[in-house]
Parts: sequence; C-alpha cells; structure tokens
Amino acid sequence: MVRRRSEIRVGLALWLGVTLALSCTAHTPAPVAVVPATSPHAPETVNPFAGVRQYVNPDYARTVEGVAARTPAQAPGLRKLATLPTAVWLDSIDKTREIPRYLDDARAQAGAAPVVPVFVVYDLPSRDCAAEASNGELGPDAAGEARYQRDYVDAIAAAFKAHAGQRIVVVLEPDSLANIATNLGVERCAAAEPVYRRAIAYAIATLSLPNVFIYLDAAHAGWLGWPKNLAKIVQVYKEVLTAAGGADRIRGFALNVSNYDVVTDPTNQRANPDEPSPDELTYARDLSDGLAGVGITGKGFLIDTGRNGKPGIRTAPGNWCNVKGAGLGERPRAAPAPLIDAYVWIKVPGESDGTADTKAARFDPNCASDDATPGAPEAGKLFEPYLVDLVKNANPPL
Ligand code: BGC
Repeated sequence: MVRRRSEIRVGLALWLGVTLALSCTAHTPAPVAVVPATSPHAPETVNPFAGVRQYVNPDYARTVEGVAARTPAQAPGLRKLATLPTAVWLDSIDKTREIPRYLDDARAQAGAAPVVPVFVVYDLPSRDCAAEASNGELGPDAAGEARYQRDYVDAIAAAFKAHAGQRIVVVLEPDSLANIATNLGVERCAAAEPVYRRAIAYAIATLSLPNVFIYLDAAHAGWLGWPKNLAKIVQVYKEVLTAAGGADRIRGFALNVSNYDVVTDPTNQRANPDEPSPDELTYARDLSDGLAGVGITGKGFLIDTGRNGKPGIRTAPGNWCNVKGAGLGERPRAAPAPLIDAYVWIKVPGESDGTADTKAARFDPNCASDDATPGAPEAGKLFEPYLVDLVKNANPPL
C-alpha cells in the first residue's frame, strides 16, 4: 500500500505525541502516601527555648546596619535591632540549601548556652490560598505535592539530621490550616484542602526528629479566636496530627505570625461569649482549652511579637498587609507568661507582606487598604521606610 505523505506526517505526529506523553508520565513525580511516624522525636513536654539563646541572623543584622547608616535619626534603635534574634524563612526550595550555613553559624554563636534557630517552613503547594501576596512556587497538583515532599521537606530533614547535635525550632506553614478551617468558600482553598492536610502531615511526620521542636501555625486571636472557628480548627489539628503519627510529634502552636494582635489588652474584654479572644495571651488559653477538648494537652505556645507593640492601629481587624503605625513589640525571650514557651520575632521586621503595585501578578487588594502603607515592595523584600517606622514605634522602646 502506498501511503500518502500527509498520512505519514499524521502517523509521525501521533508517534511523537505518544512518546512525549509517555516520557512525561515517566518523569512526573508522584507524591508518596503519608505514613504516621513512629520514629523517635523531640520530647514534647520540654520548652526548647528554656536555657538557650535565640539565633541572631547575620544576614538580617547586615541589612539593618545598612539602614542605620542611611538613617541617622533612628540609627541607635536600628543598631540595637541588629543584635536581636529573628526567624529564618524557608520560603522556597532554593532557600533550603542555606540551612547548613545557618546551623553552622548558630553553633559558632553558642557560648555557655546553646543557640537555637527558628526556621519557618513555608512553601506549601498553592500557598496563601485565600490571598495573592505570598503565592508560592508549587501548584496544588500531584507534581507540586511530590516536589514539596521530596525537594523541600526531605531536603530540610536531611539538613537537620546532618546537625543532629543541635536544637532546632520549626514554625510550620503560617495561615494554611486556618484557611482550611475558615476559608473553604474560597475556590482555591477548597481545591487545596486535601493537599494542605496531606502535605502538613507529611512535614510533621518527616521533620519531627529528636532535635527538632515543631510549632504548628495557629493564626491569631482575631481569626481563630472566634469560638466557632476555634471549634473547627482543633478538629483539623486533631485529624492532621493523627495522620502524622500523633500530637506528641509537635511541641505546640505558633500564634500571631506576621500579625499585629497585642499580647494583652485589659480594655478589650469580651461583651459576650461569642466574641473572639481579645488578645494573644487569652487566645493561647482559649486554644489550649479547645485542644484539651479533642484530647491534645500539655502544649506550649509561641507569640510573634515582632510587630504588635502598638495597640489599635487598624480600622478593620482583618487588615494584614503592611499595617501603618505598627511598632516592634515585646523582645524575644523564653517563658514570658503561663503557657507561652517564648516570644519570638517570626515575621522578619521590615520585610513586606505584599506589593502595593496594583499591576503586579501577586497584588492583593489588602495591600492597598486604608491601613496599608503605600509603596510596598513584593512580600519578603525589605520595605525600608516601614522598618524605620517599626523602630520609631517600638513598644517597649528599643
Ligand atoms: C513572604 C515570604 C517572606 C516572609 C518573611 C512572607 O509574607 O511571603 O517570602 O520570607 O513573609 O518576611
């Protein structure tokens, strides 16, 4: 049979198509099933901040020294800030390569007391599902989930295991499970829900090593402190922790990450029991009680006090992006109050929450709200005037 040229071309295209499809399937990584961990983990009843010093990030110190040199009026405060500890955000797969350098440096900073770094694990597939400003590099599909497991979480675990003699603290995936508890009306959050649950359970199962103390993010009083939301989140925690191998795989929960709620506000008491926890110390108590209701007890809490020095700075309690008038809050320190393992500066002071450029791909309208500081760069980038304001408004003063 003589084939016409066009038939041959179609045949070739089909063959190529099938071959390409096959080779793509072969190379598309699939996520592995989450298996509840049974390996040894850090003692869940120990406050990892007791008797140690928190890690001072030299990269951040250099940045702040640079701002001090350009800003004589605030230089003394900025120079003090450069000596204070802040968390290190692992907000991309690339960033995980720097973990060994940070851990070596933390060991070098240790004197009589060990020095403990706080790493924020923050690269979930479909990250920041209810907003735009911090959307991440991984999609909510099988490939995104597999890369989260293999290229991100496994890489972090390997670096932590290579420094098994050092104590490490992890703050796990800010805002993510809170979005699962309260924002399933947002299409992207509904689509991401099963992925978030599995990915976080995988992260807990994999990172709960004998030297690693995990705090799962618990948003803040104004979000999960509403009794109706608190009832939902404790159920989500219970399910995710069970999938990971049990509540004893984590030390506790991180509160107020990147937010502005004050530690304690005697003027803001609840008028009725349906209202949210009025401040972060009350929220820690409410959450601890709620967790006990689902059988999770003995947990410690962190409060991010990096930007909550000034009360009453928002016109709407839901505003979160580069809020004007914020000041540095309580200094990082261990065991400042009952239930609280430490105050920690988790959101790096002066790093933007999101761009104010309305044309940017990751523009979120909250970054142009009445409360948002104009002119902000992309999330995570230094927002110099904002940093200077945080120092000016510090409470207690620097
Ligand atoms: C950003 C991250 C950044 C972190 C700390 C988040 O809002 O998305 O990229 O590392 O804030 O500033």
